[in-house]
Amino acid sequence: MKVSRHQISRLAFLLAALLIAVTSISLIFVGLVASHTSKQQAIANEERLFGSALTEHLRAIVRDQISITSSDQSVANLVRKFDPGYARQSFDTLWTDHAHHKVMLISGEGNILAESFSDYTHIVKRPISETPSLSTIVENLNTLYRTNRVRVPGGFGHRSLNGLMPEDFAMMGFVRLDGKPALFGAMPIMPSEYKIPLPDGAPKILLSARYIDDAFLKQLNAQLDFSSITFSNSTVEPDTGPFHRLLDKSNAPIGVFRWNSQAASASIWPTVIPVIAVLSSALAVLAFGIAWKIGQLTTSLQASEKQNRHLALHDSLSGLANRLQFNRSLEKIVQTLPEKPFVLLHCDLDKFKFVNDTYGHGAGDFVIQTAAARLKELIGDQGLVCRVGGDEFMVIYWQSSAKSRVRILCRAMLESAHKPIPINDTVSVQIGLSIGISIAPEHGTTPDILVARSDTALYISKTAGRGQYTFYSELEEEAGKQKSSLQSGSERPSRISA
Ligand code: GH3
Ligand code: MG
Repeated sequence: MKVSRHQISRLAFLLAALLIAVTSISLIFVGLVASHTSKQQAIANEERLFGSALTEHLRAIVRDQISITSSDQSVANLVRKFDPGYARQSFDTLWTDHAHHKVMLISGEGNILAESFSDYTHIVKRPISETPSLSTIVENLNTLYRTNRVRVPGGFGHRSLNGLMPEDFAMMGFVRLDGKPALFGAMPIMPSEYKIPLPDGAPKILLSARYIDDAFLKQLNAQLDFSSITFSNSTVEPDTGPFHRLLDKSNAPIGVFRWNSQAASASIWPTVIPVIAVLSSALAVLAFGIAWKIGQLTTSLQASEKQNRHLALHDSLSGLANRLQFNRSLEKIVQTLPEKPFVLLHCDLDKFKFVNDTYGHGAGDFVIQTAAARLKELIGDQGLVCRVGGDEFMVIYWQSSAKSRVRILCRAMLESAHKPIPINDTVSVQIGLSIGISIAPEHGTTPDILVARSDTALYISKTAGRGQYTFYSELEEEAGKQKSSLQSGSERPSRISA
């Protein structure tokens, strides 16, 4: 299949465009994936940050409690005996100084001994089982207390809080109190200087809590620089966006925090799009450059192929068709016989060697070129003029096979060849031409026979004195057979036609 230069160029440009499209789509895909991943990453970071902020608030609640819980006075007034006045005063400190909303004193055996409501502390004694969410806290804290308890003279103490994290000696987390979601901290009452040791048995526990209210959300918003943190009692997690779910110590859901992610608005496209544009443009320049170069190479290849084809079929000195093209054309034209008769004119310059010998090879070349040009001009598109040897030409003439017409043509050829040829400013040479003619299909229908017979006829023209044309005939055939003996000086055959 032959592919034209335009097809190759079009194909190259198409491939280049395809390459750019594929690259751009790939980059956009990578951008999408990166955007999605970075958004997920940013949301995960915000969730982690939010979790840490909550933990800090929980630890703060425990730290607020320490002034009351880690005190010999508290051991004396809340553990060894129970002084309601001391309890109220202590609870007050947590409301007023630290903005806790709810405070309780709980016995390790599971009774609530004092409990604040709004701004008043009630001295009660009600079982903790009425508030099941607290049972787990008290149980866990009892266990924690036993691991931290140390023997001291006269009873028990608690290992030093120095260097401990609140998680090491306190319970903290989320709980629903009086129907409201809250952050709580709880820790045992313990002596600070071991002056008053603890009795054996379960500890007394101080629990205080902050409700998750508007003030707390405002504080979180300001602290985290998030926008619109909300809390919902619903236990359903949102489908999209960041959230933080709260569970109490029994893993019962309390509610969900939500906020608008900063990452949702921060798009990576302002960064990715210029990168895609620059890369695609660079690729476009490169790809179209390559496509253009391929087009150019194809053009020059096709030009050189055309030139090679021309060189293979043409004679370089005269520019006429060469012997190869003559043979091919003749093979082809005999296929059209007998419908399309044609004439073969075998021509040879007369006394040409004289020009070479006298004026040099260059002058000889010029004479061949001139004779060739004159022949070509005479024949035009009525036939094909070929240079098949040194000063030897073949004409396939298809315009007419009528002898009368061929005679007129041959006379014109002889006359044209005879015209002087100026080989330099001062010298002109005059040469002649001999022609042998075979007519197809009259004298033959194969290339070999037609060429041989035109050759015989040419020989007759030469031997008859040159400067003439001869049609092949049977008699000339006879003469041809005697060619070798004639060349060795035998009787010349009579010239039959002209
Ligand atoms: P005749 O009349 O019998 O044809 O004799 P001629 O002198 O024309 O000689 P002939 O046709 O036998 O030989 C042709 C000569 O042409 C032989 C060779 O030296 C010369 N020749 C062949 N090719 C070239 C060429 O390309 N350039 C030149 N200048 N001379 C050539
Ligand atoms: Mg010759």
